[in-house]
Amino acid sequence: MNLSAFPRYPLTFGPSPIHPLQRLSQHLGGAVSLYAKREDCNSGLAFGGNKTRKLEYLIPQALAEGCDTLVSIGGIQSNQTRQVAAVAAHLGMKCVLVQEKWVNYAELGYDQVGNIQLSRILGADVRLDPAGFDIGIRPSWERAMQEVREAGGKPFPIPAGCSEHPLGGLGFVGFAEEVRAQEAALGFQFDYIVVCSVTGSTQAGMVVGFAADGRARRVIGIDASATPDKTHAQILRIAQQTADRVALGVPITAEDVVLDPRFAGPEYGLPSEDTLEAIRLCARLEGMLTDPVYEGKSMQGLIGLVREGFFPAGSRVLYAHLGGVPALNAYSELFRQG
Ligand SMILES: *Cc1c(COP(=O)(O)O)cnc(C)c1O
Repeated sequence: MNLSAFPRYPLTFGPSPIHPLQRLSQHLGGAVSLYAKREDCNSGLAFGGNKTRKLEYLIPQALAEGCDTLVSIGGIQSNQTRQVAAVAAHLGMKCVLVQEKWVNYAELGYDQVGNIQLSRILGADVRLDPAGFDIGIRPSWERAMQEVREAGGKPFPIPAGCSEHPLGGLGFVGFAEEVRAQEAALGFQFDYIVVCSVTGSTQAGMVVGFAADGRARRVIGIDASATPDKTHAQILRIAQQTADRVALGVPITAEDVVLDPRFAGPEYGLPSEDTLEAIRLCARLEGMLTDPVYEGKSMQGLIGLVREGFFPAGSRVLYAHLGGVPALNAYSELFRQG
């Protein structure tokens, strides 16, 4: 594998910390040891998150091409666009964000607080668009790029979740390499890695990175898109392209992409009662916050899988916390009673 052949622009603090989730493990019976790797505090750029790790491999291309404006797209409470806005500010670039109506949720302030508030403070040109949820490439951000060009700027397009970008999978190949180095220091290996999936390049990168030591199928994706067939196909395609790019040397097959569809309901961006329970349980046992769109669902999946005995006794399970906590502000109605 030749990940080091690709230029990386540092935007994170370095390796994100791993720590045990001792009280949650005990609460769930103690037979399985849970740990978290904290991508939610991996950077000082507007709280960071998984997109910041991915952007480390996209930004060198933007700089090499002499681009002056980062253009990206997401839902109204997109974590991706907030991270792109922070990176643009950090690099002295401009930023145009297309924010679509991906989520059937409305409460007072939904389009003003949380991630979108931070993006506006960070100086991004935020454009609300009424289009609905789709993880593919959209005409709206292509339009935004055209406008940048017409104004004499040079746009650098960053697709939803960085996922359709040819380099979008590399960051989480690096995550696996980082985990291996941390495992060497800890003196043990993780048996499973649990990760939330929507646009796919996070899990795709992990599948490639962990395939290098035969653990591709130990990466358990928890779907939060509620369109799991589409997400599974996208993870597989990105994993295969990424594997080629880094010369992995072993093929990635559909069976290497494990995606559990059971925790995504009722739909993208809307938590179930079980999601809210998982958010509260993790918060109250560990002081670790998760959000109703992504990490609350993968936390619900982690808890559900432990309870149903999916992980053999004695397993060590690494929960990849990918960020997303700023979105909690946009769901305040759900937590009025705590
Ligand atoms: C984007 C995001 C995800 C999903 O990652 P993908 O690479 O799009 O599958 C999960 N959690 C958080 C907090 C995110 O911002």
